Amino acid sequence: MASVELVNLSKSFGSVEVLKNLTLKIEEGEFVALVGPSGCGKSTLLRIIAGLEEESSGDVLIGGEFVNDLTPKERNIAMVFQSYALYPHMNVAQNMGFNLRISGFSKQEIKARVQETAEILDLVHLLDRKPSQLSGGQRQRVAMGRALVRNPDAFLFDEPLSNLDAKLRVQMREEIKRLHHKVRTTKIYVTHDQIEAMTLADRVVILNEGVIQQVGTPTELYQNPANAFVAGFIGSPAMNFLPATLKTKGEAARIELEDGSVLIADRKAHQPKDGKVLLGLRPEHMSLSPNAIPDHSVRARVDLIEPTGAQNHLRVRVAGKSATVVDNTLTPVELGQLVNLQIDPAKIHMFSNH
Ligand code: ADP
Ligand code: MG
Repeated sequence: MASVELVNLSKSFGSVEVLKNLTLKIEEGEFVALVGPSGCGKSTLLRIIAGLEEESSGDVLIGGEFVNDLTPKERNIAMVFQSYALYPHMNVAQNMGFNLRISGFSKQEIKARVQETAEILDLVHLLDRKPSQLSGGQRQRVAMGRALVRNPDAFLFDEPLSNLDAKLRVQMREEIKRLHHKVRTTKIYVTHDQIEAMTLADRVVILNEGVIQQVGTPTELYQNPANAFVAGFIGSPAMNFLPATLKTKGEAARIELEDGSVLIADRKAHQPKDGKVLLGLRPEHMSLSPNAIPDHSVRARVDLIEPTGAQNHLRVRVAGKSATVVDNTLTPVELGQLVNLQIDPAKIHMFSNH
């Protein structure tokens, strides 16, 4: 296994720049998820790391060595895609051993490696089956096995679970995480699904329009998003944003909403300058309160009630905007009801608004 490093990496297709000056180091044995909306450049980046696409400028290093001029084969990297592309006429064992056979490994060596990998992935009882006799999840496991037998320095995954149904996706996610505990090869996992990224990875890289927005552990990104894009992308239901005016006085931040209501929070080290800001409130950080709490609550009108069982998701109108509140207390409310929402000042986020 090896570290993977990008240095000032850029890529253009014609006049369109899809990756803009990316610099990132993925440590040996680390599991990094690369997440961002569709079209932000995730697959292009993986393909460049794998050597399937050429960068326009900048460098890729694997295990500390420049690999810009190496072919995909010479890079010793394995890639798993959403389409499994298994050979239909070969059984699981033959599919898994195919690349080793092409590379000239002995029959014995192939058999031993396929057996060992099948044990890791719980595929031993399926080795004689053809792909058509497997479920979607099993096929994806075989695709991973085929990559794993090669003993690569790093694993690249490009949305490997997006063809599976929701339940199977959760199950496979768990399997991939368990696999990483057994086989600590460096892993770079691309997805547009922030939950998948957060639950799997040691660190998450957020990409938007070809630019790295933030790199951090899942908890860091959730607690201290660097900008409104990250704040809105991480967390479900998504953070609410309300236009407001910030005025700092000593250690206090006074935040006035567009309906004139005021919240007081502690001044934060990285808060935006006084003036127009975007107030960010997570749905799970607003709670129903029987009374108005001066400086720490806002008035809202209930617009829609979505029970999920453990929680109620309330859509509300607050300060002229629509917002979501997650209510864990299952307090009975009615459509059109006016409610007080208590805001924990420590959980307030602010972003510059321009
Ligand atoms: P993602 O995987 O994040 O959805 P991609 O890396 O596939 O995004 O694509 C990023 C952008 O680059 C998109 O706008 C896409 O249309 C463009 N793109 C990708 N491959 C090519 C190509 N071979 N030629 C021209 N444009 C491309
Ligand atoms: Mg893609």
